[in-house]
Amino acid sequence: MSGIYIHIPFCKKRCTYCDFYTEVAPKHIPRLVEAICKEIEIRADYLPSNQIDTIYFGGGTPSVLKPEQFAVIFKAIYATFTVSDDAEITFEANPDDLTVLFFESIQSLPFNRISIGIQSFDDEDLKRINRRHNGNQAVNAVKNAQNAGFGNISIDLIYGLPYQTIEKWEKQLDTALGLDIEHISSYGLTYEEGTKLWEQREKAEIIPVDDDTMNEMYLLLVKKLKQKGFDAYEISNFAQNGFRSRHNSSYWKQQPYIGLGPSAHSYNITGRQWNVASISDYTFAIENKMEFYEKENLTFFEKFNDYVMVSIRTAEGIDLEYIEREFGSEFMNECIENCRHYIDSLHINLSNNRLSLTTSGVLISNQILTELMKV
Ligand code: SF4
Repeated sequence: MSGIYIHIPFCKKRCTYCDFYTEVAPKHIPRLVEAICKEIEIRADYLPSNQIDTIYFGGGTPSVLKPEQFAVIFKAIYATFTVSDDAEITFEANPDDLTVLFFESIQSLPFNRISIGIQSFDDEDLKRINRRHNGNQAVNAVKNAQNAGFGNISIDLIYGLPYQTIEKWEKQLDTALGLDIEHISSYGLTYEEGTKLWEQREKAEIIPVDDDTMNEMYLLLVKKLKQKGFDAYEISNFAQNGFRSRHNSSYWKQQPYIGLGPSAHSYNITGRQWNVASISDYTFAIENKMEFYEKENLTFFEKFNDYVMVSIRTAEGIDLEYIEREFGSEFMNECIENCRHYIDSLHINLSNNRLSLTTSGVLISNQILTELMKV
């Protein structure tokens, strides 16, 4: 089973914290859609299996595409791959695009999951990070999606926004939990070099939330979501029973996927490759049959590090039998030894031949990971 990721690198304006590759140039959309369809043809044999279990339109802002542009991409996908009848087909969207009219216009498309980039319901927070929507639009986006028949809705929330207090964060969570959604992805705000937010912090124009408060916010997130029946199946991902993201889970299980569009990454077990992060270079290269990606084969150590890095974040944790099978008993024993003091300090749980983080372990996961990875 494999996945398809399609990167739609357009945003109507840039959020101050974002370091993803996107551009504000909608006039290039038609040319990009054509190039993505050509890339599908060119890379028809990339995946070890033609059977597709998940399709994910991410960005950027996929909801800037017109329904007929989505339809053209779907046509190319279905003509090239065998898509399972029950495939999970997701698109990311900004709340202000999700009007009743928008949902009517995509009715004939095969989407069955939506991931809404809400980040916050607080108008001041949203303004400060330059999001396009306000709190009311965020709530309405979810309601419109539900009324349109979407029964698998995920929202993104960021905690630790400048000036956010525990009380304000709790209010965000209460609003989210009042919406009867199936999935929440929630990340602590990070300051990425080169972003406007980074610059604002450097110039002391904003006051960042301190580490202790960030940890408290995470603990509150886990507690409140657990009370409402959400399963913390990955450090930043929470799902109601039966609603884990199959697409993201396939990344964590190291299943192959093909990434289409500028800056998209792909993985096919033997190696990784990534497309050029420029709409103009990508479309020009595809149109002129030139190379549009770089690639690397993974070394033994890199494969191990990749596995440890993603699996330690999941509720199932590191599978020691898998490590023994794939990397040998020496790696497995070393892994247990490296974790020994964390097991004793209750930051890691060892059971059923798996090493998984406890909630307190999540708070020091970076430190733990550094000790587990091979250099
Ligand atoms: S909408 Fe998403 S991709 Fe676009 S700038 Fe904001 S965070 Fe980045």
